Amino acid sequence: MKLKIGHLYPELLNLYGDRGNILSLQKRMQWRGIEAEVAEYTLSDKIDFSALDIVFVGGGSDREQLLVCKRLGEIKSEISDYVGDNGVVVAICGGYQLLGHYYKIKDELIEGLSIIDAFTEGGNGRLIGNVVAQTDFLDRPVVGFENHGGRTHIGDHKPLGSVLFGSGNNGADGGEGILHKNVIGTYLHGPLFPKNPHLCDYVIQKALERRGFDTDLAPLDDKIELAANAYIVSRFAPSPNNCECSA
Ligand code: GLN
Repeated sequence: MKLKIGHLYPELLNLYGDRGNILSLQKRMQWRGIEAEVAEYTLSDKIDFSALDIVFVGGGSDREQLLVCKRLGEIKSEISDYVGDNGVVVAICGGYQLLGHYYKIKDELIEGLSIIDAFTEGGNGRLIGNVVAQTDFLDRPVVGFENHGGRTHIGDHKPLGSVLFGSGNNGADGGEGILHKNVIGTYLHGPLFPKNPHLCDYVIQKALERRGFDTDLAPLDDKIELAANAYIVSRFAPSPNNCECSA
């Protein structure tokens, strides 16, 4: 069994340890005997999406997003076909914003891929801090750290989770991230997967299923990772009734 991870533009989009997500994916596959190949792409590289199982896009500054968006515009149809074919995508913060139609900042419009029916607009001040979100498909919350000026509106899409603590997509509607087909977009850095091994395994499972591997992932010793996750949950959102979301 082998999966190939494509890391898009790490020289530009790699904030707050986003690269740690790749390491986490790779290790959790290898520990189960699944071969994990990682390909890093620069803006000038040609990407064969048909060979990829997981596409990862990290976060970046507005300036870096502007540089990347031009290139994404050229490969828009290839990425859309990959998503249409249930390709797995994990996009963090700036990368997440680029999945939608646009990210509007003061005097500039950063065009997105329009893979999801969402848009982002710059707001007053940045949304910064720890986040705890509850999904409806994982048995424990997802935790992370957000720092974004953009506010994302996902319309009728399903959010990745509901905010128990923090701001999430826009600090107003209580949603965090997006889950669309096998596409996960989220504002959570940290990096995301080392703090949320259950979400990492969900992603690996989806990629395996798409290739026709009908395997249950063997459990790993996640004591330390889950203790870290539980600590953040207990510190910021001790119980669902104690919601301190900014919505
Ligand atoms: N530049 C974007 C914003 O500020 C994304 C930031 C990020 O990826 N952390 O909203």
